[in-house]
Amino acid sequence: METHEFDVLVIGAGIAGATCAAHLAVDHKVALIEAEESAGYHTTGRSAAIWIQNYGAPDVRALTGASRDFLVNPPAGFSDIPLVSPRKIVFLSPADQLPQFEVMLAEGIGLHEISMASLHEMIPALRPGYAVRGAIEDDSFDLDVAAIHQGFLRQLKTLGGALALRSRSGRISRESGLWRVEVTGGAVYHAKTIVNAAGAWGDEVATHAGVSPLGLMPKRRTGVIIDPQPYLPADWPMINDITHSWYCRPEARTKLMLSPADETDDTPHDVQPDELDVAIAVDRMQQALDIEVRRVEHSWAGLRTFTPDRSLAFGWDAHVENFMWCVGQGGYGIQTCPAAGRLVADLVAGRAPEFSEDIIARVDPRRFAA
Ligand SMILES: Cc1cc2nc3c(=O)[nH]c(=O)nc-3n(C[C@H](O)[C@H](O)[C@H](O)COP(=O)(O)OP(=O)(O)OC[C@H]3O[C@@H](n4cnc5c(N)ncnc54)[C@H](O)[C@@H]3O)c2cc1C
Repeated sequence: METHEFDVLVIGAGIAGATCAAHLAVDHKVALIEAEESAGYHTTGRSAAIWIQNYGAPDVRALTGASRDFLVNPPAGFSDIPLVSPRKIVFLSPADQLPQFEVMLAEGIGLHEISMASLHEMIPALRPGYAVRGAIEDDSFDLDVAAIHQGFLRQLKTLGGALALRSRSGRISRESGLWRVEVTGGAVYHAKTIVNAAGAWGDEVATHAGVSPLGLMPKRRTGVIIDPQPYLPADWPMINDITHSWYCRPEARTKLMLSPADETDDTPHDVQPDELDVAIAVDRMQQALDIEVRRVEHSWAGLRTFTPDRSLAFGWDAHVENFMWCVGQGGYGIQTCPAAGRLVADLVAGRAPEFSEDIIARVDPRRFAA
């Protein structure tokens, strides 16, 4: 039997695992194991690829803000191409969403009201009468998810870390103070510390290790690509309503990506889109935009996995030694990943994290311990 000895074994090579592993490899011997043939096959490869400051719980917003500098100015050699490109975000308020609009405007960072006339100029397909007010976030971005993900995987390898694909962890036990992890293919890994970055499978991996699950909730979200001709939407903003019941954004130069912003409870698996959700995406977009949809070019679904309180779960397990959680990234795992990787690496190494005590308490998985 092939055996490998490491300081840290990171389980799951989506954006969460790749980022943690790359940061940990600076001062640890690290292995990153992935069940699939390619890293990023699940949620990481299925996102809408947007960085929005005004999104999610306070801890999510703190990590989003703390990730901005890295994404805008990555270190030399991290990527040959930019990781971000500017993309404004527009929030449209129909009359019945005005109370939520007022709250959003009062609490938002870098968010300001924009006239309806300007919105109609910016989005020529906007139907008169759909919205009565609107706001815009100027300092937002499209993310190049593949470039970010590959950059962290390359950094891991440059620092001497190992990436093992087609390696699903199975039985996980403790032997002489070390974790012993059997993976598909027959190899066995020994490591002092496990980082659980298995996304929707986070509770399953924990259970295999004899660790109590956190109650993670994988929720299906659908993406749809259409051709909005005669419109050319390349320079349009991303468009949302206030209650987040749909959104759309330009895709490449000529297409639009739509989503019904669905959150259907699901189980960890290779999730596929449901035809009804695709139809709802088109219908909600058409209530706002005068765009004919002759056919759907492509659709997909991914699992956004939340903790029970929808904050992140980054930190040591409450009861089992040397088991680090890095789960619950929901709809924000890409935009928070540089700061998330630094935070988890700091916690594993016993260094003081860059965040306030309030944020560390909010993300601490021990809040779920009975
Ligand atoms: C439609 C949609 C739109 C989104 N839009 C955005 C957005 O605009 N901005 C943003 O920041 N985020 C967005 N997200 C969310 C973002 O994609 C996720 O938060 C992020 O990808 C989660 O990364 P992850 O590494 O935790 O999960 P995953 O990418 O799912 O990675 C987990 C990995 O663990 C592996 N694994 C599981 N079990 C095991 C095991 N036992 N052994 C080994 N490996 C295992 C899996 O194979 C998988 O590759 C969106 C998501 C969806 C679905």
